[in-house]
Order: sequence, then structure tokens, then C-alpha cells
Amino acid sequence: MRLRNISGSREIIGKSEFVVHGAEGKKGNWPGIFGNNNPIHIEIGMGKGRFLMDMAKAHPDINYVGIEKYSSVLLRAIQKMEKEREPLPNVRFIRMDAESVTDVFDREEVGRIYLNFSDPWPKDRHAKRRLPSKEFLARYDLILQKDGHLEFKTDNADLFRFAMGELDAAGWRAKKVTYDLHNDAEMMEGNVMTEYEERFSSKGNPIFKYVIERER
Ligand code: SAM
Repeated sequence: MRLRNISGSREIIGKSEFVVHGAEGKKGNWPGIFGNNNPIHIEIGMGKGRFLMDMAKAHPDINYVGIEKYSSVLLRAIQKMEKEREPLPNVRFIRMDAESVTDVFDREEVGRIYLNFSDPWPKDRHAKRRLPSKEFLARYDLILQKDGHLEFKTDNADLFRFAMGELDAAGWRAKKVTYDLHNDAEMMEGNVMTEYEERFSSKGNPIFKYVIERER
């Protein structure tokens, strides 16, 4: 997702209390940022932040960090937060390319990672940019607790097939998989919809999801 450049978005982001600035220096300091030792769950490529904020409301004892590459998109998440009656104390945003995620979180500092409707990058030469690629799984391996897991949802069959095919070589295994999330009672339990999920499921597209963990 890339929205039309909105003039002044960088300035608004620069002043926002919901955004963690200079996130690369925050490695190991997340309890200080949130003021507690609650677990940290992150969404990479959070878009306008609906999923992250709804999760934060449903789970006030978890700290949520949303990572988004584009200022124009992050601005929407900030605006959404500003519309809340009370800002959510357990949410922070970072504007960055997730390639640097290991500069932001320490080893095993993250309890769970969410990837929702990640950009497909359909050309083979761009496979490394796909967020469920083995290159990204290697980065997640460093920051995720040993017993932590990663959840990925998409309606893109090619991207899901690619993501499933990356697991073995990267040393991960699927704990749960569905090819039709919205008709899978067990995996739908506690499901929180993302903006893209709402849009594509309302068109009748099946939603694919896996939950993965490291091979032991
Ligand atoms: N997760 C949201 C949802 O499900 O509604 C948004 C999905 S949108 C298709 C993908 C988002 O991931 C875009 O906002 C895009 O800018 C962001 N993104 C893609 N690659 C990224 C990267 N390397 N680092 C951070 N954000 C990224």
C-alpha cells in the first residue's frame, strides 16, 4: 500500500507521541518505552493500523508495535489513534523498512510477529523483499522468543504457496494452516480483521493463514 504523498506527513509523524523515533537505538529498551514488562507483539507492514489497534483493545496486557514503511500510510494510523477517546497506552508505531528490524529489537525481545496481507512482490527477482521470505524469516528468528510464533494471513494464493515453501529451508515449521480461514471455526477463534481482510473477504476471496514456529 502506498498512498498519495501528503504534504507535512513527515512533520506530523516527527511530532507524534505514538511514534517511536530513532527506533534503531531502542533495542532492549522496550520495557522503558511502555513503562512495563508486558510481552511485545509486532505487526510488520501494519498499513493504517486497524488490526494492531483492535488487538491492543482486546489484549491490554500485551504491548503492540506496528511497523510501516511509508509516511503517508503511517499518518493514517496516527490519525486513527487521535480519534480514539483515550489513546491506547499499549500501542506504538515505527516508520521504517522492516529489513532493519533486528536493529530495533534485541534477541528474543518479541513474543509474536504478525504479517497481514503482505505485499506480494510478484517478480522472482524481488522474492527477497517478500515479508514471509527465508531472508526475513532469518531476521525474525533473531528477535522472536524461542517459544514464540509468527502468524501470516493473505488472500494471495501465489504468495501463500511461496511462504509455505520457504519454511523448511529457513528452519521453521507450520503449527496450523488453513486455506479458508473464515470457514475454519478453530482458526477463526479470536480472529481480528485487518483492512485488507475485510476488503478481500467481502469480495468472496478465501483467506489463507498459517501459524509457524521454529523447528526444535
Ligand atoms: N496489514 C495491513 C492490512 O492487512 O490491512 C496492510 C496491508 S498492505 C497490502 C501492506 C503494507 O505493508 C503496506 O502498508 C506497505 O507499505 C507495508 N510494507 C511492505 N513492505 C514493508 C517493509 N519492508 N517494511 C515495512 N512495511 C512494509
